[in-house]
This record gives sequence, C-alpha cells and structure tokens, in this order.
Amino acid sequence: MLQQVNGHSSGSDAQGRESLREDLQEFLGGEVPLHQLDDLTKVNPVTLETVLRCLQARYTADTFYTNAGCTLVALNPFKPVPQLYSPELMREYHAAPQPQKLKPHIFTVGEQTYRNVRSLIEPVNQSIVVSGESGAGKTWTSRCLMKFYAVVAASPTSWESHKIAERIEQRILNSNPVMEAFGNACTLRNNNSSRFGKFIQLQLNSLLVPRDHQMTGAAIQTYLLEKTRVACQDSTERNFHIFYQICKGASADERLQWHLPEGAAFSWLPNPERTLEEDCFEVTREAMLHLGIDAPTQNNIFQALAGLLHLGNIRFADSGDEAQPCRPMDDGAVRTSALLLRLPEDPLLETLRIRTIRAGRQQQVFRKPCSQAECDTRRDCLAKLVYARLFDWLVSVINSSVCADPASWTTFIGLLDVYGFESFPHNSLEQLCINYANEKLQQHFVAHYLRAQQDPIPPELTRLLQQSQDTLLKVLFPADPEEKSQEEPSGQSRAPVLTVVSKFKASLEQLLQVLQATTPHYIRCIKPNSQGRAQALHREEVLNQLEACGLVETIHISAAGFPIRVSHRTFVERYASLRRLHPRAPPDPHSPSPDEGHSEGSPHAEQATLRALLQDILHTLPALEAATPAAP
Ligand code: ADP
Ligand code: MG
Repeated sequence: MLQQVNGHSSGSDAQGRESLREDLQEFLGGEVPLHQLDDLTKVNPVTLETVLRCLQARYTADTFYTNAGCTLVALNPFKPVPQLYSPELMREYHAAPQPQKLKPHIFTVGEQTYRNVRSLIEPVNQSIVVSGESGAGKTWTSRCLMKFYAVVAASPTSWESHKIAERIEQRILNSNPVMEAFGNACTLRNNNSSRFGKFIQLQLNSLLVPRDHQMTGAAIQTYLLEKTRVACQDSTERNFHIFYQICKGASADERLQWHLPEGAAFSWLPNPERTLEEDCFEVTREAMLHLGIDAPTQNNIFQALAGLLHLGNIRFADSGDEAQPCRPMDDGAVRTSALLLRLPEDPLLETLRIRTIRAGRQQQVFRKPCSQAECDTRRDCLAKLVYARLFDWLVSVINSSVCADPASWTTFIGLLDVYGFESFPHNSLEQLCINYANEKLQQHFVAHYLRAQQDPIPPELTRLLQQSQDTLLKVLFPADPEEKSQEEPSGQSRAPVLTVVSKFKASLEQLLQVLQATTPHYIRCIKPNSQGRAQALHREEVLNQLEACGLVETIHISAAGFPIRVSHRTFVERYASLRRLHPRAPPDPHSPSPDEGHSEGSPHAEQATLRALLQDILHTLPALEAATPAAP
C-alpha cells in the first residue's frame, strides 16, 4: 500500500489526504481486490480461509509471488512465464532504489540479500532457505536466484575482471545441469525431482573497489543423495536421469563401447518412455566440459554407469544346496558389467555370492554362500556404493572448479534447496532423514524468526511440553531425537544404520550452524496441485501446505511485529496534512507540551511531532472506518 502514495507525498493537503484515505482503506480491508494484496498481512481477518482466497485470486490473475511478512510465498505456475525471469526484470529489481516496493518476487529477496552482504557499514552473511514439498518449485527458485546473481553481480568495469567473472558465473550455472542429471529423477510428484539436498554458498568479495562486481566463487555442499534409487525404483518412478541420457543420447560408437545396443532392456531402467530429461545428454556433457571434466574422463564415467546397468541385470538362482553358492542366471550380464567396471569377473561373482566371516580367537575366515536375496542385496549395495562415490566426486570436481581462494572472498549468500517432505506407501530410512531435515529447518525458521518476534520462551516450558502424552502436543513439541536414539538398545546389527544417520545428522547440524550465523530469508514454495497442471489450484492440497508450514501464524506474528517500517521523515511528509484535518486533542495539563523546550529537528522534537501526528490519526480513524465498507 505504501508504494502507491510514495510519489506524491509533499504535494497539496488534498493530495495528502487522498493518499491517506487510500492507505487506510486498504489497511482496513476495504475496496482493494484480493488479487491486488501484495502482502498477506493485509488480508483481513488473517485465517487459513482468507489467506487461501487471496492466494487463489492472485494465482487466477497469474500473480505467483506474495509476501507473508518475513516469508515470500511462491506459487508454482506450472507453465513457462519467461517475462517473469528475464534479465531485464532482474536488472530492474537490482537498480530499484527500494526493491521491496516493487511487486513481490524472488528477485526482491535476491537483491535484498545482495545489498545486505555488500553493506559498507556491516556486511553480514545471508542465507535464503527455499522450502516446500516435492514439486513445489524449490530447485527452480534456486536456479533462478543463481541466474539473478550471475546477472547482477556481473557488471565489472575492466575487461579482465569481466572475463574472470563470466567464467565463474558460467561454471556456477553449469553445475546445475550436471548435478540434476546425476542427482534428479522422475518421481510420482515431480518429473525432475532432486534426490539430494543442496546448499550453495555464493562467495563475494565485499572489499573490492570498484564495488560493482563481487562474486568470486561458490561452494556446493550436498546432503543425503538417495542412492537407493540406483538399484530400486518404484514401478511408477525412474532411475537418475543420467542413465536414460546415456541410453538415449550415446552415439553409435559409444553404444558399441558401452554395450548399450538400441532398445536394450535394463531392469534398473524402468519407464524409459516417460519424460524428456534424457534428451539433455548433450547439455550435460557440455556443462561437464565447462567444469573441467574432459571427454576421456566423461567417457570413463559413462562407461561405469553402463556397467552398473549391466550389473542390475545379474540375476541369481538358488543352487538348492546351502553349501553351494547361487548361480548367475545369465553369464553375459556378469561378464559385461565386469568388463565395463573393469573388474575381474571371478572375484566380482565371488563377492556377490559369498560372504566371508571372521570368527574365533584367531579370527579365522569362514566363507558362507549367500542366499539368493542376500546376493541381490550385495549387488545393489555395490551399485549404490559406486554411484554415491561418483556423485561425491562430481561435487568435489565442481567445487574445485568454482570455489574461490579463501583469501579472495569475505562474505557469502547461502542458498538452501532442500528436499521437501515425503510420504510414500513404503518409506525407508531416507524418507525419515529427509523429513527430519525438514523438521529441523522448520525449527530453525521458528527459532530465528517467530521466536525472535515473540519472539523469549523459557526453555523449561518447552521441555515440560515435550513430556506431554497428548497426541497433538507430541506433534507440536517433538522430543529431541538425540535423547530418543540414546535410549534405544544398540544391537550390533544397528551400527551401520546409526552411522549413516549420525553422519547425516552431523552434516545437518553443521548446516544449521552455518545458517544460524547468517541473516536468513525464507521462500516458501507452494504446489497448487499435484498433477503439475497450469491454472489449477486445489484448495485442499494448498490448505494442507499452508497449515504444514504454519503460514497463518507467521503472518499474525509478522503483522504484530510491524513489518512495514516507515522512516520518520517519510511519515511526516505523508501524514503532516492530517494535523490540519482535526483539532489537536487538548493537552494533558500534567505533562509538558510535546514541543516544549526542544529545538526544531532534534530527536526529541521529532518524537514529539510523531506522537502528535499519531494522536491525530487515531482521532481520524473512527470517521474513516465508518466511511469504509467492512471487509468481505
Ligand atoms: P522441487 O525442487 O520443489 O521438487 P522443482 O523446482 O523441480 O520442484 O519444480 C517442479 C516443476 O515445476 C519444474 O520442473 C517446472 O516444470 C515447474 N516449475 C517450478 N517453478 C516454476 C516457475 N517459477 N515457473 C514455471 N515452472 C515452474
Ligand atoms: Mg528439487
């Protein structure tokens, strides 16, 4: 509402009054159409229903971003909206004196963090936490923000620095197709679902002169790649994109070399006909090349991946005798995978079929043939191990290509694109970890913003509520998972599971520590429908998401915390005319006159003027309220 009157504040009284009337009418929820409400704190009253109605009206009007106090709500358009992400628009937000006065956009958040991190007075590291359920638009948002920084942080004056900047930015952008090819897959919820969490640290040098270019590098940290997907896919889902890319995009020579004849069937490659991500093989290769992964190295990688596909085709048949190992049903698959992975064939087969156990005082080695199911598990583990290591390696290569020398950067903007909540018919340890990460991030959000506004709550109250046996309170105040896991018996068979979990927990805690040392910004992505259809907003689905992220509470607290802050000067300029609208209330005979004893322009005088103006406004409000129709 404030931006509408910004331009004509110092004009005539009549103009000033008109501005005020508009402001207050909007404030009181009058005539302003719902789809024009840029901030959900202005919805009156703030309830799930009214918030939903506002978002619905905006979605229908093709308006996808809405402020909700400290959070930006992003509705997934599920259709291309190129004008919303053009470099021209990026520059417009970058050049705006007050970007927050433009339409809500991820670029407002991008620009705000960019300004904060470059602040001459006190640059502070920034972070943007992009959250939402799978398919809501988190990766899209992070990608657009990276493009935004690449555009706005790339206007260096000298040709040489221009070249350096261009190289870094191009590499950062190139990391996206590579990481998505190896880490994304088509799932039930999202055709391009990230199967890992990503924290990208955009490194800036705030001390550079001239201060027009500061992005000097980036560092990427990934979390919990869903490596199980290499070997196990739901019947309606797919493996990581890269497997389809090599099968579809390989040249005739490569097909021969990688043993991927046209139309070959692989059991780890379900639903090969489904999406178009495999058409991106050239894009992936090109991006890898830009990141410094040359053609022979790429060839090695793709050959190994083909080896994994053949490994997945190995099937075992029970020998019918416990003392005898299982038989592979097709020698060809063993041979080809051994060949492509460059492993000696017999030891490969032996490792898949026979377990060695050390026992006794002398640690004697026993060899025990595995059951058919055990053989399958070992085969799958082998593939997961290879793939996970490959993924980590790729991340390290990307990092060495984009990471700046520690001496060359002073501050950073962190972008967190984390997997959304997931609940499948069959949930594994990975879903537990993913949902745990989400809970932790929500906790971080609550701790950082909501509590800061209510912001102190004595910790013993929280602890007390954690002991409650009430189902709802248990959900609202979950027990510390650390205490729980300590209470659990630690059998030997649990050890590897706990190791995975504790490793993940440690990396998540490290991330939270990094986040806590930054000024956080939040973008909450909302999926309007689960079919990925444009122009369709399903009320129930959106309500669930609004409820899950506590948006209404966020709006209430943001509203109470006066999210609109107007400088004293602007306030006086805008509302000064009001002093003449109503006679001043008679002064309190016991208190000194507001202006008494203070010279014009002193802080005391300013405060006094402000107080007087506020009194005037309070007198005027009832009259305006009476003249304004109630909110629908
Ligand atoms: P998430 O990372 O939250 O799982 P994505 O960012 O991959 O979800 O988004 C899922 C799909 O939604 C994308 O592949 C794209 O088709 C679409 N999408 C998301 N955000 C936008 C947007 N701002 N404009 C157009 N399409 C979008
Ligand atoms: Mg994603």
